[in-house]
Amino acid sequence: MKVFKFGGASVSSTESIRQVAHILKSYQGEELLIVISAMGKTTNALEKVVEAFYDNKKEAALQLFEAIKQSHLTTAKYLLVKNFNETLEQLTNFFTEVEWLLHDKPVQGFDYYYDQVVCIGELLSTVIVSAYLNEAGFANHWVDVRDIIRTDDNFRDANIDWHYSGEKVENVVLPLLKEHKVIVTQGFIGSTDENESTTLGREGSDYTAAVFANLLNAEGQYIWKDVEGVMNADPKLFPDAQLLSELNYDEVIEMAYYGAQVIHPKTIKPLQNKGIPLYVKCFLNKDLPGTVIHKKSLKGLPPIVVLKQNQVLIQLHSKDFSFVGEKPVADLYQLLADSKIKPNLMQTGAVTIQICLDNQTEKIEKLALAAAGIFEVQVEKGLTLLTIRHYNDVMLQKMITGKTIELMQQTPETVQVVLKGI
Ligand code: ASP
Ligand code: MG
Repeated sequence: MKVFKFGGASVSSTESIRQVAHILKSYQGEELLIVISAMGKTTNALEKVVEAFYDNKKEAALQLFEAIKQSHLTTAKYLLVKNFNETLEQLTNFFTEVEWLLHDKPVQGFDYYYDQVVCIGELLSTVIVSAYLNEAGFANHWVDVRDIIRTDDNFRDANIDWHYSGEKVENVVLPLLKEHKVIVTQGFIGSTDENESTTLGREGSDYTAAVFANLLNAEGQYIWKDVEGVMNADPKLFPDAQLLSELNYDEVIEMAYYGAQVIHPKTIKPLQNKGIPLYVKCFLNKDLPGTVIHKKSLKGLPPIVVLKQNQVLIQLHSKDFSFVGEKPVADLYQLLADSKIKPNLMQTGAVTIQICLDNQTEKIEKLALAAAGIFEVQVEKGLTLLTIRHYNDVMLQKMITGKTIELMQQTPETVQVVLKGI
């Protein structure tokens, strides 16, 4: 069996939902578990609803939610005939759940409410898409993933209970797959042992698909995206970016680590552990080969470029002209851990330490203040971090000529440069 994942862009309009049906028809007769995200920008819109609610702006929250309701109802009306009434009933139940909550006053933490409201996006989209596919002749069975994927109550970034979820897959999902062949369910959401909804972190649907692929020992996971496959650079910034037809798990983890927005980084491990290939396929043209990610070791990969904008460089000088020794470095690591800061690049010299990180103003101010006890601190903002894997000198020179280099770190495999003026 195969696990498919369609992201928000793939279900953002009636045309794209029809395209989903078109793609699926060429897999007719196969066992499929299909994971679907919320439609288009629904998750962002639901975030605004929770923010208003938590700000005690009940009317604003209800109004924002009304717009989300209407857009889903419109989509359902356009797509459905025979299944419209039944779907309307399901949608209305989900709407009511949220509206009840919005009528209360917030008494729990923000993250708790976030998950109770935001999870609706995936539920609404899958109800509509499942009903449409059934009408379009692609029979499938809708599953509420919250009955399968159990998590802890770390709201907004919940951790999966693999044991419990594995048993549910075995006892519920497998028999349903045998009976119906095709299951449509939600990505990104789960539930606690007290039946409270949880979410797995933004863009978490890829991860849900990987969890299912792992637990079902799928022959492959297919992510349908609005790109040709994984590219060696962002085509919006580099018009001559080329398609990478093959990658291995470790390379993708490296790319995600350096900031490439290819695939949710948590996605790879569950697949890697069972050697399940991940196919990144083109949503608009299903016949294009796309990219396959598997465990083969690969030679001769082209340079892979990742640009991270909005970087900050913190320069720390030892105060008393002594060398940067073990103690200050240990203290600094402790500070970074305490402030939950993950440096993107760090370099230690005789009397200085340089740290490049994402611009998170509050955290950085706190860190700078705390570090001022040990070091002289300088902060520079508005920088870009360029990473090139499998680089060659010609290419590196081309990319850095004419720019001010603030910091550079090089290994035989990877070069990273902090640049000003990009
Ligand atoms: N709908 C969620 C988000 O936009 C999850 C996903 O799309 O993967 O973050
Ligand atoms: Mg998405």
